Amino acid sequence: MADAPQYKRILLKASGEALMGDRAFGIDQKICDRLAADVRTVWEKGVSVGIVIGGGNIFRGVQIADTGGDRVTGDHMGMLATVMNALALRTALRQAGVDCVVLSALAMDEICDSFTQRSAMAHLSEGRVVIFAAGTGNPFFTTDTAAALRAAEIGADVLLKATQVDGIYAADPQKNPDAERFDTISHEDMLARGLRVMDTAAVAVARDSQIPIIVYSLLQEGGLAAVLSGEGRHTLVPA
Ligand code: UDP
Repeated sequence: MADAPQYKRILLKASGEALMGDRAFGIDQKICDRLAADVRTVWEKGVSVGIVIGGGNIFRGVQIADTGGDRVTGDHMGMLATVMNALALRTALRQAGVDCVVLSALAMDEICDSFTQRSAMAHLSEGRVVIFAAGTGNPFFTTDTAAALRAAEIGADVLLKATQVDGIYAADPQKNPDAERFDTISHEDMLARGLRVMDTAAVAVARDSQIPIIVYSLLQEGGLAAVLSGEGRHTLVPA
């Protein structure tokens, strides 16, 4: 089949900031709908999809620590922010006709089911998109690390990070327009160069689990299907 998907199961990490679009805070419904449409395109082709959503568009734990507050409480607030984003994305996916479920690393029975690896595998094998909320469930971690962990737990063939730029750069291209861009880069080089596109724990988990990473722009319409078929601008970190 000409357009048979190269990857059978993917874990997509979308940062909270990416959901913000041009806004200064919160969720841009247009971006949420675009992400849902992109996911639907690959889901309809039979790709099994897990999604980890960030929370930085609403709250990051370090914000409270910066003002002398308690970091653990701040991180709890950050994880709650990811649950809000997960519910927004679930709504957008359901409106797009995609069967999906939210599983949270922190128990909140009235709102969604709790994450277990068994339930995630069962939903995925029944063809449901699974949105993983509340990160790892632990303070002092990030949703990048949660994404790498969940990718390993569900046996994903690739970890995709959807950002606001089209790949991995030696420096932030929004601050430094001349920054070198990589078509491919190894996990080791990412760690050695301290590239900040993903945190080091996430890169180490992906490397140790031999999971390739793809970084691409959420702002490219249809970008997810394009990068999964080897087209579209992206940076590949091979397994
Ligand atoms: N967070 C946490 N543990 C996790 C994942 C996230 O404590 O396993 C908290 C942390 O405060 C973080 C916030 O949730 O700042 C939002 O997550 P993240 O910064 O990874 O979101 P993103 O940058 O992807 O929007």
